Amino acid sequence: MRTLKHILIVLIVITVFSCKNDTSKEKETISETVTEIRNDIERVEPPNWWIDFKNQKLQLLVKHPNIGNATPIISYAGVTLEKVNKANSPNYLFLDLDISEAAKAGKFNIKFTLEDDSELIQTYELKSRKNPAEAYVGFDSSDAIYLITPDRFANANPENDEVGGLLEQGIDRTNGYARHGGDIQGITEHLDYIEDMGFTTVWPCPVLVNDMPSGSYHGYAMTDFYKVDPRFGTLADYKTLADELRNRDMKLIMDQVANHCGLEHWWMKDLPFKDWVNYQDYYEENKTNWNRETTKMSNHRRTTNQDPYASKKDYLEMAHGWFVPSMPDLNQRNPFMANYIIQNSIWWVEMLGLGGIRQDTYPYSDKDFMSNWAGAIMTEYPNFSIVGEEWSYNPLLIAYWQEGHVNKDGYDSNLKSSMDFAMQKNIVDALNEAESWDNGLVKMYQGLANDFAYTSPKDIMAFPDNHDMSRIFTQLKGDVVNTKMALSYLLMMPRIPQIYYGTEILMDDFDNPGDHGLIRTDFPGGWQGDSVNAFTGEGLTDSQKDMQIFLKKILNYRKTSEAIHNGKTMHYAPLSGTYFLSRTKGDETVVHILNKNDEPIEIDLNNYTEMGLKGKTLKNVISGETMIWGDNLELKSKGVTILTTKL
Ligand code: CA
Repeated sequence: MRTLKHILIVLIVITVFSCKNDTSKEKETISETVTEIRNDIERVEPPNWWIDFKNQKLQLLVKHPNIGNATPIISYAGVTLEKVNKANSPNYLFLDLDISEAAKAGKFNIKFTLEDDSELIQTYELKSRKNPAEAYVGFDSSDAIYLITPDRFANANPENDEVGGLLEQGIDRTNGYARHGGDIQGITEHLDYIEDMGFTTVWPCPVLVNDMPSGSYHGYAMTDFYKVDPRFGTLADYKTLADELRNRDMKLIMDQVANHCGLEHWWMKDLPFKDWVNYQDYYEENKTNWNRETTKMSNHRRTTNQDPYASKKDYLEMAHGWFVPSMPDLNQRNPFMANYIIQNSIWWVEMLGLGGIRQDTYPYSDKDFMSNWAGAIMTEYPNFSIVGEEWSYNPLLIAYWQEGHVNKDGYDSNLKSSMDFAMQKNIVDALNEAESWDNGLVKMYQGLANDFAYTSPKDIMAFPDNHDMSRIFTQLKGDVVNTKMALSYLLMMPRIPQIYYGTEILMDDFDNPGDHGLIRTDFPGGWQGDSVNAFTGEGLTDSQKDMQIFLKKILNYRKTSEAIHNGKTMHYAPLSGTYFLSRTKGDETVVHILNKNDEPIEIDLNNYTEMGLKGKTLKNVISGETMIWGDNLELKSKGVTILTTKL
């Protein structure tokens, strides 16, 4: 037998030698190729990895009954098992691997010898990277982002509406907090609509599994960071969405959560370390009676991240307290947890070829960890983008979180983009208020003036609303013209604009303003048998159709407008209920004019000579009409006028 085996190996080597010159490497590959795939271990995460990352370290979480006393061995060229770390639970090991430049893509076995000399074998794969690191280009000011709640957008696959074995069963479209059946395929199948509307980037709220007893549709209580929720589809569906977007030169943003998981996360039944989640001892003692009163909740005083006078007590309660009782707060100061989250993020970027990450509840995580997390991702993908969510109307905080901002405490977030909740509120106030010295359009004007404090205003994400707040049409009291003014201004500002699905057809939450289930209403046409279909326009009201066309025209103009993407910004103090903003790059100037007057008003254009438009022909982006910029401009009614020199 032995002789025969030797002869076979010699034959293989000779064959390889005759085909390729690089015999030594080929020999290595042959000797290490796994012929039998073994999956003896309950769980190894990340489930695979890649060669050729800048950071050659990889830490594997291994979970299996009594694996803690096993001795693992890896024999694969270029891969070194540097350290074996035991956890507090006997059912975990953390393996520190070094994947050197010599490592090739392929499969190898990790052999675990247990105390009784029995063996467990797990096959592990190192894949080769499909694209160079620079090819992962993140969203920027040239993009317009369409935010989608996947359960509520389109149900392309009714087969996955109900999946056995999960805690929450069934769909009920009459209940705003139940599952409605929307899925990833529903997004993929409507990319034509999204692209035609003029959006370039899709941000679906999280689609990873939330195996929670209730309210699992929103996606923010993940119970497995490596698994797509089967009700949303499969990893293959997620990859298809990413690929289809990439084929259209569009981008996919993944919504990730580093701060917390769902209470039903698989590790909650057997936590690897004593400090894996925050307030863990307290939770273990009280979990039989776990509710809003007993949970050590975050005090939500987020300014303790920056406040030089904050007591440590307040800071710790904010950062370590749980967001809600059903979402354990992850302890990112545990280095194994820190590695776990960073690797998980990189795994998804690489697996899907992402065009960005949106990171949830940014200020609630350990802020030093978040800086390391963002830094680790940006090191691997230098052209990538990450936006962090902090719900604050204070521009100082928006500035604080953006990378490169000189902060008094020396903090640098490594975060390209923060979120502009301040402008969101300014815009709503500006349009709802009657004009006066302090109120009305001046809120927008002075809000935008705050850009002096930002490292890079155009890299900040701005939005009229999102999945957590009342719909913009509702916030603007059902005023269609005001809604148009808000949306067009957002799309003209030096920002990355994000628009929530359904805004284009004036979706609202008038019946119960702010109610999350209602905000996330089903998109009409996404379900078989819907009487209204917003994808085709069938059954839409005139004002819905009008808004859809209005947004479509601006978005599609914006798509190729260098002036809006990267141009110089200039605006004039509001005057007589009007507000002028211009964006200029090269020959292209776009002028955005808001008029709050119900009666016609004659504008003296000599007030606006700095825009350098005198005598030039401009085209109205919405109506297509052209005009010559003379001495006067008559604005016939309340509304928005967008003019461009690009004819
Ligand atoms: Ca479905």
